[in-house]
Amino acid sequence: MSKYWSPAIRQLTPYVPGEQPKVDNLIKLNTNENPYPPSPRVVEAINNYPKDRLRLYCDPDATALKQSLANHFQLHYNNVFVGNGSDEVLALAFMAFFRQEKPLLLPETTYSFYDVYCKLYDIEYRQIPLTDDFEINFTDYDQPNGGIIFANPNAPTGRQTALHEIETLLLKNRESLVIVDEAYIDFGGSSAVELIHNYDNVLVIQTFSKSRSLAGLRIGFALGHEDLIAGLERVKNSFNSYPLDSLAIVGAVAALEDVDYFNETNQKIIDCRDWTTAQLEQLGFRVIPSKTNFVFTCHQSISGAELMQYLRSNNLLVRHFSKPGIENFLRITIGTAAEMQTLIETLKQHPQI
Ligand SMILES: *Cc1c(COP(=O)(O)O)cnc(C)c1O
Repeated sequence: MSKYWSPAIRQLTPYVPGEQPKVDNLIKLNTNENPYPPSPRVVEAINNYPKDRLRLYCDPDATALKQSLANHFQLHYNNVFVGNGSDEVLALAFMAFFRQEKPLLLPETTYSFYDVYCKLYDIEYRQIPLTDDFEINFTDYDQPNGGIIFANPNAPTGRQTALHEIETLLLKNRESLVIVDEAYIDFGGSSAVELIHNYDNVLVIQTFSKSRSLAGLRIGFALGHEDLIAGLERVKNSFNSYPLDSLAIVGAVAALEDVDYFNETNQKIIDCRDWTTAQLEQLGFRVIPSKTNFVFTCHQSISGAELMQYLRSNNLLVRHFSKPGIENFLRITIGTAAEMQTLIETLKQHPQI
């Protein structure tokens, strides 16, 4: 704390990302990174980039990437916005759309960055509990609001909400914007992107961090009606003209082109997730059905905090949230088949399992 901090900054509770350990003997299953390297085409594109051009500013509009994304999703160029990771896209979207008179509605258990942005921008918000099975029940969202945001599939639960339910929500909320954070959509979920053609009140946000193995390159994007994109551009151009650097732009374009690699690595993760789920269930764990690259799970008799510590002492890093209601759950990222075998073998050696 310093007397020079702005008063509003003194009240903030910043988001705490999962640990990035400084030692490398750990099996890292705590931040939902992809266990596979990025496509070889990404590496090649970055290697081939003429490094003397780093002297110049990058394209402030990231035109090549926006055009690739538009082609990929069969949308127009002006339906696409890109940013430095989807966290930045979300931050700009909260600023652009959610500073309204009425409160923002969001699930009580969801990506914990959302309420951090609300506090940063002084946005009033209402957290709506999930069902006992960790599902989002949109009938609870039938109330005056200045916007709605949720992740689909949701994090850290991994559960998917059906597309027809999202469409009903859009129909019931014609006066407010609904943001669907699809960070994990490529692991078997159904994307709301198709709804963009019929609804101007939906913004879909995705990332290259998980399904495209590029968390370190920082690329996120939003898809929606052109007037929504124009709102995001206004905020972006009042904040940072060059959110994506030259290497990120060429890397992202190359990643999008390698469809086979994308399908192959994601299928491996989906298969391994389903194997891990079955194994955990055999060991007495409850596993919430996941459409993501992680599982959300709790054991019938051992606490989440204790299990996290036990795994850590065996060089396995997983995520534990001390939030009431989910304090006995662990969020475990799906790694390679060998890593998940190590996890299961380690759990089997716990005296109470
Ligand atoms: C990982 C994640 C993000 C952030 O992704 P970046 O593109 O790396 O900033 C956003 N939303 C959810 C739900 C996530 O899990």
